[in-house]
Amino acid sequence: MEAHDHVEPVSPQPVVPAWVALKDDELLARRICDLGVQIAGSELEGRVAQFQEELASRGLAFRPACYLGDEWFSPAGVPAIAIPFYLAHPRLKTLEHRQMLEVEGGTPEWCQKLLRHECGHAIDHAYRFSSREDWRSVFGSPETEYAPETYQPRPYSKGFVRHLPNWYAQAHPDEDFAETFAVWLALKPEEWREQYRGWKALEKLKFVHSMMEEAKSTAPKASRGRHISDASKLRKTLARYYAERRKLYAEDFPDFYDADLRVIFENGDAQGESAAKVMRKNRAALVGSIVRWTQQRKYTVDMLVRRLMQRCQQLELTAPRDQSRLSYELAAYLATLVTNHLHTGRFKRSV
Ligand SMILES: [Zn+2]
Repeated sequence: MEAHDHVEPVSPQPVVPAWVALKDDELLARRICDLGVQIAGSELEGRVAQFQEELASRGLAFRPACYLGDEWFSPAGVPAIAIPFYLAHPRLKTLEHRQMLEVEGGTPEWCQKLLRHECGHAIDHAYRFSSREDWRSVFGSPETEYAPETYQPRPYSKGFVRHLPNWYAQAHPDEDFAETFAVWLALKPEEWREQYRGWKALEKLKFVHSMMEEAKSTAPKASRGRHISDASKLRKTLARYYAERRKLYAEDFPDFYDADLRVIFENGDAQGESAAKVMRKNRAALVGSIVRWTQQRKYTVDMLVRRLMQRCQQLELTAPRDQSRLSYELAAYLATLVTNHLHTGRFKRSV
C-alpha cells in the first residue's frame, strides 16, 4: 500500500528443481550454492512479507535486507537478516529434519519470532543504538564477553522480557535488546504495557519504544553491508554442512555419569531386561518431554540419550524388576543433565 511496503519482485524459481527427486545421500553430495534456492517464490516470501507488515504497523520505515544464509543471524554491523537456506524448500526442510531432528524456524510462528529477534540486531546495526551511553545504562555494556552458551539464566527474573526459549534475553546485553525489540514489535504498546506491568523489563520496553520513535524520523547510519555466508556462494556440500553442525551440537560428554547410571538402574536384576533396551523403548517419550521442558535442541537431547544407551550397553547394566520408578528417575536425571549443560556451556544455542 505505502512506499515502505516494499516487496521484492518475484523472480520465478525453476518449477521443480531436479534435486527434489534425489535420495538423501545423493542430495547430500550437492553443493549448497548449486541448489538455486531463493526467498522469492518460497514459503518464506509470505513470512517475510508478514514480518514487514508488522514493522509497518509499528510505524517503522526500516526494512532489513533478508537473504538466505547457513543459519539464523544478523551479520555484525550490517542491517540484514540471514535466514537458513533449508527453509526455502520443503525437500530441504525434510532433509534438515532427518539430519538434525528439528527445523529451527520451520513453523510460521517460530519463523516470525526469529525474524523479530534478528531484526532487533539488524536495527541496532543500522542505527548503532548500542554504542550510546543511554543504551548501555539500560542494557549493559555490549563489550561484555559474548557467551550465549554459558549464561546462567534466572528463570524467575522480571528484569528481562520472555520471547525466545531459555530466557535468551539474559544471554548478553545485545540479546536482551534484540528480545526486548522483538516483544515491542510483536505486541501493541497497550499490550506490552499490560503484560509487563510491574516488571523491571517494562523500563527496557519503554526505552526501546523511545528509540523507535527516533528511528521513525531519522535515517539509519548504515544501510548496507556484506551478506556473509550467502547460500548462493556456499561451495560446501550438504554432507559437509551437516557434518559440521552435528559436531557443533554434539560435543563429547564425559563418562562421569557411569556412577549415576548404576544408581538409576539400581545395579539391576541379574536376570532383568537390558537397561539399554528399556531406554530404547522409552526413547521417543523421554526425548519429547525433555525437549518440551528444557527447550534444548532435539538433536542434542537425542544424542545424549543415545550416548547413555550406549554406555548402559557397555556397562552391561540391567533394569530392576520393578520398573515403575525408572522412567521418572531417567527423565529427571536427563533434564538435570541437559539444564546443567546449558549452564556450563556444553550445549550451544545462539541466534
Ligand atoms: Zn540474537
